[in-house]
Amino acid sequence: MNKKTGLYISTEGKNIYRTVYSMRGETIMSPTTIEEEIISISELDLGNYIKVLNEMLEPYFPQRSLSTTFDDIYETFCSVLESIEDFNILYGTLIRMEVFKNMPDDDCSDEYYLKAKKNILYGLSELTDINYTVNDILKNLSLGKEIDMTYTYTKYNQADCTHYFYMGQEFREELYFDSLQNYFSFLIMKFLGSKHKVVRCGCCGKFFIPKTKRATLYCDRIAKNGRTCKQVGPAQKHLDTAKKNAVIEAFDRNKKKMYKRYERTMDLLHETEKGLTLSEYFQWLDRAERTRSEFLKGEISEEEALGVICV
Ligand SMILES: [Zn+2]
Repeated sequence: MNKKTGLYISTEGKNIYRTVYSMRGETIMSPTTIEEEIISISELDLGNYIKVLNEMLEPYFPQRSLSTTFDDIYETFCSVLESIEDFNILYGTLIRMEVFKNMPDDDCSDEYYLKAKKNILYGLSELTDINYTVNDILKNLSLGKEIDMTYTYTKYNQADCTHYFYMGQEFREELYFDSLQNYFSFLIMKFLGSKHKVVRCGCCGKFFIPKTKRATLYCDRIAKNGRTCKQVGPAQKHLDTAKKNAVIEAFDRNKKKMYKRYERTMDLLHETEKGLTLSEYFQWLDRAERTRSEFLKGEISEEEALGVICV
């Protein structure tokens, strides 16, 4: 059977086997699990990506010398896309498909430029949106909160895919996805369905899924000098729980506030006076995350941490 461009997955037990068909041909990715996919998109370091994304979406559009401007945007877009494909062919391919899905013909009209730019913007920001949503869900799970897929995460409460069945030597099933949003909606719903316990590491502040039922406070990531959070964490016990919660809550609250501001800016698709650009959002996020972790490691005081985090 001829494979269409996109993502094919099959599952066996906990494992997900992913094959991507793209302009580069067939790529068989290493087996993963739902939990790994969820955690790995939640940890994506989007700093540089966002910087580029933001530059190409500067609000000098539509204006005179349109074509040059658009060509610049388009060129940047292509190179960003290629870097995403190098980094993760699955993300890159599905973003490419999203951008070109409803791309109008280039008739050099203002309308074309605007529509094309919009497609590029929305295609590229899928990654940031999923990253944000997954983090928000993990945060709520770690706090033991109910996840409301109906009203809060509406965009991710259903997924379209094609279910293929094959019969050769043996019976096989595959799911085909043509969008990142559908793939992650599927993963998020599956993830929620299996009722995982999610913990926010008391040392680095990142989310993890404990391997055992025993109460676990720290993750296995490397914290400093080659030692894991689990090894370094307990020494940080002196931190006052109330202060700790105050900083973590302030971080979550401000993160939401900042992201909503950015989202509103994006909805308008042109610059508003008080709008927040994506790179501003990520600059803040970068600083705030570092501050939170410095505080959790006992390197700075609660006041210092809140001073940086609160906007
Ligand atoms: Zn950790």
